[in-house]
Amino acid sequence: MAQRKETIVLFPFMAQGHIIPFLALALHLEKTNKYTITFVNTPLNLRKLKSSLPQNSSINLLEIPFDSIDHNLPPCTENTDSVPYHLVSKLIEATLSFKPLFKKLVNDLIDEQNGYKPLCIITDMFFGWCKEIAQEYGIFHAIFIGGGGFGFACYYSLWVNLPHRNTDSDEFVLPDFPEASTIHATQLADYLRVADGSDSFSAILQKVLPQWMNADGILVNTVEELDKIGLMYFKRKFGRPVWPIGPVLLSTENRGGAGKEYGISTELCKKWLDTKRYSSVLYVSFGSQNTIATSQMMQLAMALEASGKNFIWVVRPPIGFDINSEFKANEWLPRGFEERIKCSGQGLVVHKWAPQVEILSHRSVSVFLSHCGWNSVLEALSHGVPIIGWPLAAEQFYNSKLLEEEIGVCVEVARGKSSEVLKKDIAAKIELLMNETEKGTDLRNKANEVKVIIKNAVRNETNFKGSSVKAMDQFLNAALIMRQMEKGASKD
Ligand code: UDP
Repeated sequence: MAQRKETIVLFPFMAQGHIIPFLALALHLEKTNKYTITFVNTPLNLRKLKSSLPQNSSINLLEIPFDSIDHNLPPCTENTDSVPYHLVSKLIEATLSFKPLFKKLVNDLIDEQNGYKPLCIITDMFFGWCKEIAQEYGIFHAIFIGGGGFGFACYYSLWVNLPHRNTDSDEFVLPDFPEASTIHATQLADYLRVADGSDSFSAILQKVLPQWMNADGILVNTVEELDKIGLMYFKRKFGRPVWPIGPVLLSTENRGGAGKEYGISTELCKKWLDTKRYSSVLYVSFGSQNTIATSQMMQLAMALEASGKNFIWVVRPPIGFDINSEFKANEWLPRGFEERIKCSGQGLVVHKWAPQVEILSHRSVSVFLSHCGWNSVLEALSHGVPIIGWPLAAEQFYNSKLLEEEIGVCVEVARGKSSEVLKKDIAAKIELLMNETEKGTDLRNKANEVKVIIKNAVRNETNFKGSSVKAMDQFLNAALIMRQMEKGASKD
């Protein structure tokens, strides 16, 4: 008789930045052929996800009912993509209403399997409350953090130790960190800068984040060798296992999940890169959600042109313009910039969205000017590309700090959407990294070492298992041990 496949339930918060790493994890687990994957989310999110699943995927999509109107949110609001920022806290708050619905969903799932329970439930960092339900049914429960260990350790610490603006100094030391970590006021995302414990974000995050404490363990999308301080923080804070299983990323074939259309075809992009010298191109992108101010865009464009270096720049509409607005080169970029760099062959301006992984994996690319979103960081480091950091929001400030101070593969050029960065400062950083300077060589060498570390972390061979493979095995074993203990208990 064929062996029964164990079921793993995954349940992310309704935001693309949460759904995408969960989808990557779901596909990663499905590939092992050992598990049936059930992916839980609200109807609209699942509909979007369905169209981006690989054709041969057998992931079960299971709806949890949700009507945003019941929570005083605009109609059809099921993703942070479709709400203004000040309502995101309300969307998180609304997820507390999932508790009875999720319980019913787990119950139905067990009934359908004739009483056989899922092996484990992996939920979002905002859904620590799921532990209660998992525990009731005797199911293993883990939280999955799609970001990095250090970034989220800082994020966690900052939210649970409010307020920060009362400090006399612009710098403060994060409590409980295994090594002194100092945060500067400029490294606080806008909403953290104004949070005082009574605002809507503080209220909900201070409620849900400490619930991580109850989970049976925490999975982190990072690599143990690169992220020791953050991982140690969580181990000490929660006294629970922490499993660094990264990088867990969508493969190039599965990246339709982002639901974006490329501003240039992959073929054309590669063709252009093929014409460039080895390690001679700077790639510039600020991710899928963030954008900079028009004045910053002007300075960046002038610096790129003046540097004389080859570049690919993914240009999203600047702050104040809708992502779907018509491309206004005359307003956003120096006069004639696009034509000049196209004619000279110096650069490619890609509108809105580019095939990032294909670019970063190309031999001509040498440096990435990035907002330090965690997926971008993992994608760059997996290909040995050092980073010029320009963190803009959320935990990107701490990712940049980790990359610069702990790993040594980054120099920061600017911080935040309102920093007054000048052409000469950007040009200096580009030259520092791309010319044969001592620092540039050091960073490029370090990035190549990191690439090998990451490659080794995911090696899964008969006589060698990398740290991330071992961590995933340990997590699955811990769930199996709980299953066996439960079976033992029910026999007694
Ligand atoms: N991305 C892409 N093309 C672009 C910009 C971004 O494919 O033009 C992808 C990128 O490869 C990464 C994701 O979008 O996988 C961005 O995630 P990240 O965590 O770096 O930043 P976020 O968008 O969440 O701020």
